Amino acid sequence: MNIILLGPPGAGKGTQARHLVDTRGMIQLSTGDMLREAKSSGTEMGLKVAAVMDAGKLVTDEIVIGLIEEKLTAEHGAGFIFDGFPRTLAQADALAALLTKLGQSLHTVIEMRVDDDALVQRITGRFTCGDCGEVYHDVTQPTAKADTCDKCGSTNMVRRADDNEDSLRTRLMEYYKKTSPLIGYYYAKGDLRPVNGLADITEVQNSIEAILG
Ligand code: AMP
Repeated sequence: MNIILLGPPGAGKGTQARHLVDTRGMIQLSTGDMLREAKSSGTEMGLKVAAVMDAGKLVTDEIVIGLIEEKLTAEHGAGFIFDGFPRTLAQADALAALLTKLGQSLHTVIEMRVDDDALVQRITGRFTCGDCGEVYHDVTQPTAKADTCDKCGSTNMVRRADDNEDSLRTRLMEYYKKTSPLIGYYYAKGDLRPVNGLADITEVQNSIEAILG
């Protein structure tokens, strides 16, 4: 079963993807994580995309499609969760072609709906464990002990360079201009299932479970 988590930055895609990995053994394919990894390991491609990412703009379709193609052919498991991909119509067409080539299909596109004010609040307080990837928030999901991960005990907490108000405005603009047309695209294909991303984490998990069956 291959699914897409579609929604603006801060909608909770990463959090829900991690839950599906833990409970169903699915494979999370986050192009944002892949690009951040390339950026921090200083590869040629990572250096090329660093400034674009920090400003909140989208990197080129060619780069992200290449990353996804590599992973799709290399990894095997109980289905893929596409998190933050596709983000443009060209990426959506490329994904359809790649899945067909591999004899696979798309099961569902989960649209995570959240209003813009909530996104700003969620993103500006967000941090993650640099070791296990657990997601926290200064106000709504703090760690039990300051700067220590509840899940793995690491003290390596990281904040994303683009989780600030300026970059977020650009990321939201990119989302509305380039990614939101995918809602109509997948609706027309009959694949779209909306969930209320403003509900608390467990409720959103339950809504997604109910859709996936
Ligand atoms: P994310 O972690 O999904 O919020 O992505 C962080 C940043 O990586 C975005 O603001 C873009 O600069 C870049 N990025 C991630 N996924 C894509 C994609 N599918 N297409 C273009 N740029 C992407």
